[in-house]
Amino acid sequence: METTLGGSALEALKGGLKGDAYTPGDGGYDEARAAWNLNAHQHPALVVMAEGASDVLAAVRLARDEGLGVGVMATGHGVAAPCDGGVLINTSRMRGVRVDPDTSAARVGAGAKWADLVPEAATHGLAGLQGSTSHVGVVGYTMGGGFGWLGRKYGFAADSVKEADVVTAEGELVKANAHENADLFWGLKGGGGNFGIVTSLEFALYPVTHVFGGNLFYPVERAEEVLELYSRWAEDLPEEVTSAVAFLNVPPIPDVPEPLRGRSVITVRFCYTGEDLAEKGEELLGPWRGFGEPIMDTFGVMPYEAMDMISMDPVDPIGAYGHSEMLRELSRETRRTLVDLAGSGSDTPLLLLEMRQLGGALSRPPADLNPMGRSDAAYAMNGIGATFTPEMAQAVQAYLAHVAEAAKPHATGATYVNFVDLNGASPERVKAAYSADDWERLVELKGRRDPGNLFRYNRNIPPSSAEGADGAQSANPAT
Ligand SMILES: Cc1cc2nc3c(=O)[nH]c(=O)nc-3n(C[C@H](O)[C@H](O)[C@H](O)COP(=O)(O)OP(=O)(O)OC[C@H]3O[C@@H](n4cnc5c(N)ncnc54)[C@H](O)[C@@H]3O)c2cc1C
Repeated sequence: METTLGGSALEALKGGLKGDAYTPGDGGYDEARAAWNLNAHQHPALVVMAEGASDVLAAVRLARDEGLGVGVMATGHGVAAPCDGGVLINTSRMRGVRVDPDTSAARVGAGAKWADLVPEAATHGLAGLQGSTSHVGVVGYTMGGGFGWLGRKYGFAADSVKEADVVTAEGELVKANAHENADLFWGLKGGGGNFGIVTSLEFALYPVTHVFGGNLFYPVERAEEVLELYSRWAEDLPEEVTSAVAFLNVPPIPDVPEPLRGRSVITVRFCYTGEDLAEKGEELLGPWRGFGEPIMDTFGVMPYEAMDMISMDPVDPIGAYGHSEMLRELSRETRRTLVDLAGSGSDTPLLLLEMRQLGGALSRPPADLNPMGRSDAAYAMNGIGATFTPEMAQAVQAYLAHVAEAAKPHATGATYVNFVDLNGASPERVKAAYSADDWERLVELKGRRDPGNLFRYNRNIPPSSAEGADGAQSANPAT
């Protein structure tokens, strides 16, 4: 049923906003609710294009008064539960970024992307812990943990957070750090945006200007041998190296280098950050130099600003579904399953099946909330399919279900908050991203800080008062 909003409350909101507000039928509504993931169709009762904390505050207060839920979107890369019938706060105009070289810290607005921060930080010889693409939002990524190519050395982005300004479910703007609202602060750093709308975030930066990184692309027919060598090679890598191995069905588009265009390949990729980049990087590649000619070798020293080149994620909006599992190891049986799923002759419709290496700082028991279920997984597997037609969407979803089933014997059963997406943000999957202790504490915190589940269009943690708050039976409140 479509919820409609109108009357004096809406007029008062619009009159007081710095930004704009749109209801269904308004020009601007469609653009304001559109997500990067074109499969995320959201039908909010109201979209507020916020231009500051006061706009966020006003939107949250209106939602409370009208008995509606609240969703927040910066880029729409991570819509897990569409904001249907609620108030959607679009933060994409709040992209301010400030870097303090004296404290090696950054403060960013709710809508800033990593791409907004990277050049500012680079000016001072510093870098934040971005993921595979700088087009993802800093705040949304960090709320779900956040790890990328510096992960094994510096850990999750959430662990580097120093402070946040947050609009709470009570409709107040508060500061959260280790001393003020410390409970909220703990829940923000991995709790997937369940406890409030962050209007600005401060976090540590690191002295990284260049890295050694790239890809070695091989024909998919060599997948078995590549996986075998990779699994041995990766075991001994130092923490300064974060690596991955990925099956790719490269689209036949002009943006892609000619040797890869339209081909199925398997790629070994890594990023090294440390001393003597060129020399040590070449040394790390040693075992691969005797493996045979790759289709393409893109390794070299690169500025941190060019790091998107390692993962080559799509930049423009696409329809996509994904599924992720945490793999215990790359044993012979696991490797065989992966080749069956994505190797030559598999007819996989997926764009990508990637195994990202964990370990190092990502696997040490953190002082804080862990967004990966504290599992003993060695790899985070992520399968992604692009969907340009309803038939493709069906085929991709069916294949992802097959991937989930086939991977089961090799997986820990845990999930990773940021990789729980539109394709399966069920209460069970969200719960599986946390240890039992963390989950209990999160549900209790949600019950105290957001008992009405105002912030429900997300990877949702039900409040302790909710029926089935153990996450086992409760229906996703957003659907
Ligand atoms: C192409 C691609 C590459 C990715 N690579 C990585 C990667 O390398 N590592 C990794 O860890 N993740 C990765 N992700 C996952 C991504 O980090 C999550 O989907 C993240 O939630 C996206 O945040 P966003 O703000 O860009 O997206 P949005 O869809 O705008 O937001 C997603 C969610 O973040 C929360 N959120 C956003 N803004 C706020 C706010 N102001 N206050 C509170 N909560 C908020 C909300 O719960 C919201 O529903 C990737 C995703 C894609 C699509």
